[in-house]
Amino acid sequence: MSIPLTSEEKAYYARQITMKGFGEKSQTYLKNSKACITGLGGLGSPIATQLAAMGVGYLRIIDHDTVDLTNLHRQHLYSIDSVGEPKTAVAAERLRKLNPYIEIEAINTEIAPDNAANLVKDMDIVVDALDAMAPRYAINKACVDLDTPFIHGGVIRQIGTITTIIPHKTPCLECFKGGIDDSKLPSNASQGVHPSIINIIASIQTSEAIKILTRKTPSLPGRLLFFDLEDLTMEFIDIAKQDKCKICG
Ligand SMILES: [Zn+2]
Repeated sequence: MSIPLTSEEKAYYARQITMKGFGEKSQTYLKNSKACITGLGGLGSPIATQLAAMGVGYLRIIDHDTVDLTNLHRQHLYSIDSVGEPKTAVAAERLRKLNPYIEIEAINTEIAPDNAANLVKDMDIVVDALDAMAPRYAINKACVDLDTPFIHGGVIRQIGTITTIIPHKTPCLECFKGGIDDSKLPSNASQGVHPSIINIIASIQTSEAIKILTRKTPSLPGRLLFFDLEDLTMEFIDIAKQDKCKICG
């Protein structure tokens, strides 16, 4: 059953409702949608802010970290006063003030294979804002098992990648980026990361999520978008489903 928009909501979302092809119909879809954001760091901050402000009716936000001084240059959900506080608590308070018409469920936990399915259960979409492969693999498996679309994104230095995973139709994360050991990967802590690339990738992930939630066709199923801020290049790489994939094959 779909809950209609109130007059306050129509006013709040007026500038997107006015967009051609969006309208009250898409806004009502968003109001009646549930999205999960795994991670509230660099990608999670702008994704959560945009999905909340655009009116996704139910947002589940997950993280296990506290705010660190080194986060603030790119994680704009937090302020200097938030240092040392749990990210989920600070983010939930900020997002509820930003948009009181939606519901926020904050879960302070570390994502692992044994809790992933429970964490993404009952969601219409999951948006990847993690910074390590191990929890991503756990969420990827849960999304494949539950048939939930998963928007994968990753950033390092001035480079970012994104793809939209539609379980059993497109390659899953394991198909094109399987078996990576986090200890062998460069990290943002060692390599650094440019806030601008984070906001670009996060915004495209948000746009993909909104397309799916409003019953439109997403742009990145089966394609990995590679974006380099250095020379402003954007490349699309076709990715293939592996018949023998241990997760979706
Ligand atoms: Zn697969």
